[in-house]
Amino acid sequence: MAIPVDNGLHATIVALSSAPGRAGVALIRVSGPHVRFVLETMAGGVPVPRQATLRRLSDAAGETIDRALILYFPTPHSFTGEDVAEFHVHGARAVVARLLEALTGSPGLRLAEPGEFTRRAFEAGKLDLAAVEGLADLIDSETEWQRRQALRQMEGALGQVTEGWRGRLIEAMALLAAELDFSDEGDVDGPLVERARAIALEVLAELRQALGSFARGERIRDGFVVVLAGPPNAGKSSLLNALARRDVAIVSPIAGTTRDAIEVRLDLDGMPVTLIDTAGLRESEDMIEAEGVRRALALAARADLVLRIRSVDAAQDPFLGTDNTLAVASKSDLPVPSLPGEIAVSAETGAGLAELLSAITTRLADGPQGEPALLTRQRHRVAVAEAIEALARAARPGLLEAELMAEDLRQAVVALERLIGRIGVEDVLDQLFAGFCIGK
Ligand code: GDP
Repeated sequence: MAIPVDNGLHATIVALSSAPGRAGVALIRVSGPHVRFVLETMAGGVPVPRQATLRRLSDAAGETIDRALILYFPTPHSFTGEDVAEFHVHGARAVVARLLEALTGSPGLRLAEPGEFTRRAFEAGKLDLAAVEGLADLIDSETEWQRRQALRQMEGALGQVTEGWRGRLIEAMALLAAELDFSDEGDVDGPLVERARAIALEVLAELRQALGSFARGERIRDGFVVVLAGPPNAGKSSLLNALARRDVAIVSPIAGTTRDAIEVRLDLDGMPVTLIDTAGLRESEDMIEAEGVRRALALAARADLVLRIRSVDAAQDPFLGTDNTLAVASKSDLPVPSLPGEIAVSAETGAGLAELLSAITTRLADGPQGEPALLTRQRHRVAVAEAIEALARAARPGLLEAELMAEDLRQAVVALERLIGRIGVEDVLDQLFAGFCIGK
């Protein structure tokens, strides 16, 4: 059967979709017009759609590569919208290498670029842009909160809500158009203009609420930032190591060894937290350390929570304010009592660490609650802020011109269309898919 060979956009693509390396099972995915041909020549025929079938896979010379469970998803009911086949083979490097070699040796088949399966799914209209972002976040999710948020977005939560807003604004624009067509004067707000304004106000309120969830959505995606701050030798590095249960920061009895910020990512009951150790916060003649101090203060200023640490046998750091902080007395194994309001911990004995972790979780979870966040990326925030600005103009009292209001509504609609990738999508896509792994 002759299918024109095309190695470009419409080539049949092949990739290992499971993680590389030795495993029980590996998944190789093929998508494009040559899938049926591949199944006929390598798997002894095209199996019943969507039904796992055990087959012998062989190369062009007829040599068996592996026995595999194969699945066939005919177009258009597949992830990419094209014909798709999945080969579940034994997860040996040699099997995967041999199968990929055999597949890419067939005319019209080539290895997929990073994110190319998902790009095809997007282009086939299977996912909107926000859902693609959700899928990327799901694949990257490390903690329970991240998984939940990403899954919701992948399932289209933001896309659906945005479509709703867009639809209502278009309805409002239609009302304005009717008003413009039918009114003789045009300088008096008729009932249709009032209805349009009411719709704009409703959508505006919902957009503002969604924007309010952004800080939380972004934090869940990127991690809450917790900074360990305090004078040199307060025991910050030791505490970071104890909390992370591995040696990440250099612990040394010489003051000022931690010159730069050191980060660890923690999963605190599903909450993603980036814990940052800072250089000792003190004035210094030493230029490198002075830069470290500057960075430490800057980090503390934009942290979600600062652990203000002092050694039980030393004074508190004078530099830090008390907003957003938890007071921690370290080295509680020393025979000196901690002060009221401090959480006493010892990196040496592990005393107080569990209390400290639970205090951190409680403080961070205390932030804006309620509805899970719809907006999780700067891109979302920018688009929604733009729509809000346009709607605030459209809905301002005393705006008499239906035409002006229609233009503001149109700008809000454009911002929402950018949000879900109906327009202006190319730059976002290139950046997004570059971050995907091959096989996704
Ligand atoms: P940093 O400069 O704040 O990062 O402090 P370090 O973590 O480097 O610790 C400074 C010194 O305090 C080192 O000599 C540590 O061994 C010591 N130290 C740290 N944590 C504890 C602790 O829990 N108990 C005791 N007794 N000493 C500690």
